[in-house]
Amino acid sequence: MEKKGGTKPKTGKKMIDGTDPVRNFEKWKKKYNKTRMDVKRDRSARKKPQWQVEREYIDKLVSRYGEINAKEVVRFSDFPISKKTLQGLQGVQCRQPTEIQRQTIGSALQGKDVLGAAKTGSGKTLAFLIPVLECLYRHQWTSMDGLGALIISPTRELAYQTFEVLRKVGKNHEFSAGLIIGGKDLKSESEQIHRTNIVICTPGRLLQHMDQTATFHASDLHMLVLDEADRILDMGFMDTVNAIVENLPASRQTLLFSATQTKSVKDLARLSLKDPEYVWVHEKAKFSTPATLEQSYVVCQLHQKVNMLYSFIKSHPKKKIIVFFACCKEVQYLFRVFCRLRPGVSILALHGKQQQTKRVEVYKDFLRKHNAVLLATDIAARGLDFPAVNWVLQFDCPEDADTYIHRVGRTARYKEGGEALLLLLPSEEEGMVSQLQEKKVPINKIQVNPDKLQNVQLKLEAFLAQEKEQKERAQRCFVSYLRSVYLMKNKEVFDVFKLQIQEYANSLGLAVAPRVRFLIKAQAQRDEKEDRKEVKELSDGEEELRSFKAQLRGGVPQEERQSSESQDSGENEESVKGEVLHLGSDDESEDDLKDLDLLTVKRKDVFNPEGDAEIPADLETVSLKKTMKNTKFTEAKKALKRKFQVNTKVAFSEEGQAVQMWPPVQRATTQEGEEEEEEEGVSGINMEKARERLKLEDQQFDKQEYRRKVKAKHTEQRLKAKAARRDANKQHGRNSEEEEDEIVAYLAHHSEDEFDPSTLPDPDKMYSDEEEEMVTAKQHSSEEEEEELKVGKGKKAKKAKRQTVEHEVLDTGLSLAEDEQLVLHLLGGHR
Ligand code: ADP
Ligand code: MG
Repeated sequence: MEKKGGTKPKTGKKMIDGTDPVRNFEKWKKKYNKTRMDVKRDRSARKKPQWQVEREYIDKLVSRYGEINAKEVVRFSDFPISKKTLQGLQGVQCRQPTEIQRQTIGSALQGKDVLGAAKTGSGKTLAFLIPVLECLYRHQWTSMDGLGALIISPTRELAYQTFEVLRKVGKNHEFSAGLIIGGKDLKSESEQIHRTNIVICTPGRLLQHMDQTATFHASDLHMLVLDEADRILDMGFMDTVNAIVENLPASRQTLLFSATQTKSVKDLARLSLKDPEYVWVHEKAKFSTPATLEQSYVVCQLHQKVNMLYSFIKSHPKKKIIVFFACCKEVQYLFRVFCRLRPGVSILALHGKQQQTKRVEVYKDFLRKHNAVLLATDIAARGLDFPAVNWVLQFDCPEDADTYIHRVGRTARYKEGGEALLLLLPSEEEGMVSQLQEKKVPINKIQVNPDKLQNVQLKLEAFLAQEKEQKERAQRCFVSYLRSVYLMKNKEVFDVFKLQIQEYANSLGLAVAPRVRFLIKAQAQRDEKEDRKEVKELSDGEEELRSFKAQLRGGVPQEERQSSESQDSGENEESVKGEVLHLGSDDESEDDLKDLDLLTVKRKDVFNPEGDAEIPADLETVSLKKTMKNTKFTEAKKALKRKFQVNTKVAFSEEGQAVQMWPPVQRATTQEGEEEEEEEGVSGINMEKARERLKLEDQQFDKQEYRRKVKAKHTEQRLKAKAARRDANKQHGRNSEEEEDEIVAYLAHHSEDEFDPSTLPDPDKMYSDEEEEMVTAKQHSSEEEEEELKVGKGKKAKKAKRQTVEHEVLDTGLSLAEDEQLVLHLLGGHR
């Protein structure tokens, strides 16, 4: 058979046209072969386009899903996951999966709903990011397909952190990812959101888009992830999350992750999970916190806390520390105080009342720093992965054991070590420690070396004397802390009436405790209850007690009070019971101070990390609970029966004026209150004025309440309108994807520069606006206050300018003598 390409002609003979047949043949053969190869290549190319190759690769991966055996997985490459994701993982130095990743990735790839729980710092982020990337890759998702996966985080910082991890791990994929957390206006965010494939968001802002951004729809969503799921599903976010879930397709896959997972069937029913896979990595573990975390607590009085914190910071200058507080106002005030105290280490503050740009700045700053102290509220408690944090100090008792676990989880992350110290009030110890034990938290009680405890109260007093703003901050801090304790659900741990409020005010640098309105009312209610309980015991001495109360109330008889407005009676009740409370707590505070003097190092000296000052005694803290019960109301009543008069302690100022130190003269935190403070001088509270002020404040409160209700109604109307608009859009088959453009971040082409979420619109603005309205004019954030100061200064400058204009010399162009004559003439004219 003739070979392809023909037989080779003999050389030497020339053709008719004079050409060499051999050369001709070689040329022809070359050309023939080349064409053949091209055709072959073309054909195979036509047969397998890139997308098809990829499809086949994906199918191959998917076909291996059924064989996944978590127990056999050692490296990430043992999972059937794409090369693109594997390369991304290598880029962040992750080759071997952690336990939670090993046990959940397989089920998530298979499309199951997953509930994953594992200790803090155990790698839950990648446990959901890898399935998210693989899910969209599997579906060959493009930016044209819109929203494919939704990751909800409880805080902006955590969402930002997750976004950063996604950018690094997903850099080889072509999806677009967006951060919807807040910072700028909703509009610019709206322009991008509908083209974003993976949205990482906070619940409030997402719902706002669902309500207001016509182009945003989640109908094709494949995967919903709730990070810190128990927090997202708790009461605080309940309505928002329910509304979000209503807008999501039922066919989606749902992944829930947290260190403290919800098992509530009700919660899970809200998400309509389908036969979910429960993965509790450390369910059988002895402890619920990382093994590398050393935890301890100290019992100290409320008025010693600031001293404790200062002493702690001073004795750990080379450490990276996070300090958790109960409320923003505490952070705001103590941040300024500690900056002024110059403890020799950078102090940073992170809380919800900061502007978004500031929050991002602080977050990044603390991320980079090797030794610094971050004062924070619970917005920093969940999920944040600051590298190499040495200590977590809980200045205020956490709401519950779960919050405790999350707070301490900011240290000892992923195989690192860390330490945690909790400050507990004597009244909090029993309840909190038993809760922690129940949750398998290994915590030791330790003592503090009193020699190392530095007292900063005088310095704080001096600061407040110098700066009025600082004093207002201290007052707000005081009121906010009491409010936070009062609002806590667990009354066994948190009892605002057990707090020594006067001493606490003093420890913040305040001479007198500001008047706290909610406490006045609560105290009155409490007393009423106690009164009813004690009514049988009260016989002969009852009338005396009442008349004494009436005296303290400003002479209003009981009968009249019953018929008067509740707000008045609230105020009056407080003034009496306030005194009674002080009578009781005063005695106790002295006892407590004695106890504190006796407190010595027990197992460990937190203020002496080098361990050079050992004090051997091993003394238990005396529980004050029982004595408290005896002293408050009953003691006062006994005293009143004996016609006991309240002792007053009077000190003399430098000018020789008498100032009543005890019982504390209570004042309002408002400016009006301060003006009155000056007027009243030594005479204490002017009851008439106080009553009027209270009435006025209540009226303002009513107005705010009314405004809030109106606003709620408007929001409802807006939601209805929005729903109607959406229905109309659906009917008209409107396609939001028609609009094209650039998106927040493309994973495949991302720059190495850090993404700045502050460049994004402010997601929570609308909601925070509403919140802000509820806050009184005196409760602005520090930044707002700075703004106010600037504005104030601006106004002053303008005023000063006006004054200089008014006093400007009028140049008449005449000589001095002529000027004099003119003036005399003019004056004469006016006479
Ligand atoms: P969690 O969400 O469980 O608190 P994170 O997902 O924030 O924990 O991870 C904690 C730390 O562990 C992060 O710094 C992360 O980079 C690291 N990490 C997670 N998974 C791995 C892994 N497989 N290999 C190495 N480091 C990992
Ligand atoms: Mg996490």
